[in-house]
Amino acid sequence: MQTVTKSIKPAEKESPQKRWIAETLFDDLGFRMIFEVEKVLYELQTEHQHLVLFEHRFFGKMLMLDGATQISKKDEFIYQEMMSHVPLFAHGKAEDVLIIGGGDCGIAEEVLKHRSVKRLTQVEIDPAVIAFAKEHFPEFTGSVFADKRFESVIDDGAKYVAKTDRRFDAIIVDSTDPIGPGKILFGEKFHAGCKRCVKPGGVLVTQNGVPFFQKDELAKTMTSYRRLFGDASCYIAAIPVYVGGHMAMGFASDDKRLRRHSVETIAQRYRRAGGFKTRYWTPEVHVAAFAQPRFIADLVAKADGTKTDKTKNRAKRRGTSSGVA
Ligand code: SAM
Repeated sequence: MQTVTKSIKPAEKESPQKRWIAETLFDDLGFRMIFEVEKVLYELQTEHQHLVLFEHRFFGKMLMLDGATQISKKDEFIYQEMMSHVPLFAHGKAEDVLIIGGGDCGIAEEVLKHRSVKRLTQVEIDPAVIAFAKEHFPEFTGSVFADKRFESVIDDGAKYVAKTDRRFDAIIVDSTDPIGPGKILFGEKFHAGCKRCVKPGGVLVTQNGVPFFQKDELAKTMTSYRRLFGDASCYIAAIPVYVGGHMAMGFASDDKRLRRHSVETIAQRYRRAGGFKTRYWTPEVHVAAFAQPRFIADLVAKADGTKTDKTKNRAKRRGTSSGVA
């Protein structure tokens, strides 16, 4: 945790009154986002990670775990809605849902807006995150912990999916980045555990970082998905506080139709679900989110072996099937 402390000092020199907190996630790329702190609301070295919650004058409440931004009140709706409504409307009649991580309960709150959901289980490794969320994010935790369908389990998500006899229509992995306790959630063993727990025709979605800076995260996940599921790809959304442009969310299922529904089909399901209020997700955004910019499509294709036009053209020029002489 030394790193974070060091980065705060220099900022203090600039304006002694205000503390600056740095996101150190991209130190290996040689840059940092630093945030001027209005007030530190909560700071703790937990059994699993360093947790700091602070007030920022533009982003509002911001949560950082181990120097990585997790959530900002200003734009959390984008991530929470896309991680929840895309898999659930793609599935269409999900009753049993599992969230891995997600201790702030923002995704749980969105999932419970779906009347089809009969039981929602959240497996979070760090009880301190739940405790602080109850205190500082009551707008999420209030309705969630009051909902009889909700079950909170404190456990390592990787252990849980390896041993549970429950089966789920949708598994949503709202994890930290592949550092600290979250690292294990980006491995094929964990994905295989999720596959074991998914009902036939079920869906798995994972937060997969921002491909422009974290391309290996997506490539690795797509490769293990390819080995485990009949259909694998990702969808995207731009979340301002997650610097780097598009964020990728991995999407895997044995049912190839799930990520190919029409806008009309998704709109019908949304109406049937009561058309609850959203601020980012719409049936059109849902379908469009699977259209990937070329550099992301190449990453996904390379990982799951589908040839892109580039390789096809190269193959044509060389008169070989694989484009490799
Ligand atoms: N939206 C955020 C993001 O994309 O970075 C993630 C938010 S959520 C707070 C991440 C949660 O994953 C944290 O509460 C963390 O404690 C939890 N977590 C990390 N590793 C875990 C594991 N192995 N099992 C279960 N939960 C885990």
